[in-house]
Amino acid sequence: MRKRIVAGNWKMNKTYEEALSLVSEIDNMVKDEVNGDVTVIVAPPFPYLQSVGKLTQGNDRMHLAAQNVSEHDSGAYTGEVSAAMLKSVGVQYVIIGHSERRMYHHEDAQALYKKLKAAIAQGITPIFCCGEPLEERDADRHFDYVGKQLHDSLSYLSNEEFDRVVVAYEPIWAIGTGRTASSQQAQEMHAYIREQLSRLFDAEAAFNCSILYGGSCNPGNAKELFAQPDVDGGLIGGASLKSRDFTDIIKSF
Ligand code: PEP
Repeated sequence: MRKRIVAGNWKMNKTYEEALSLVSEIDNMVKDEVNGDVTVIVAPPFPYLQSVGKLTQGNDRMHLAAQNVSEHDSGAYTGEVSAAMLKSVGVQYVIIGHSERRMYHHEDAQALYKKLKAAIAQGITPIFCCGEPLEERDADRHFDYVGKQLHDSLSYLSNEEFDRVVVAYEPIWAIGTGRTASSQQAQEMHAYIREQLSRLFDAEAAFNCSILYGGSCNPGNAKELFAQPDVDGGLIGGASLKSRDFTDIIKSF
């Protein structure tokens, strides 16, 4: 069955102390207030992973994600972190292909494919991000653009490998801008993504794949977005840095 997921991408924010406070608050609120089977994921910066993971260990709903992973297994790659290293500190999910990494770190489709393989080989679930820039949407090419992103990085995976993948649709024009995709825009793109996935993989795997929406999601718009049949949760940036907002988003299911 499709998992319902709310994941918080903290990006390059928070000191160590602030990160521990934030995750403790989220952990307590999730314990006290969240019912039902929602998978909650937090993605802190690398240096905090182990400590954040330890704080959430006793809470079955809470899971740990990294924001990036190396495509390489080990060796002379200064500054990189491998999937095996992430696994060894308890990481269960990893964000791959975020538009900020595609843009600022020039991660291309092939590199993303290798990162997907590296994560899956270690039993870490990739959250694969896709989404179009504003000019593609304005030119009415957004479906083709996202379809190509899916094809170019995911199509080389086997059905078994794909079974582990979560997809996040994040229109670039909605990330950190306060401008959210309407629930109708999100639903039609999520349905399109699922259809593309059913062409690349078997229909059951596509049906079972969780597809998250990301882009200025907040407590005020999450309910309507999550009510869409093909929206299985959210990847949350700014609002995941405030425990109250993040928990209210989780409670929007
Ligand atoms: C993101 O960058 O993944 C994101 C969704 O950011 P925000 O919620 O701040 O738009």
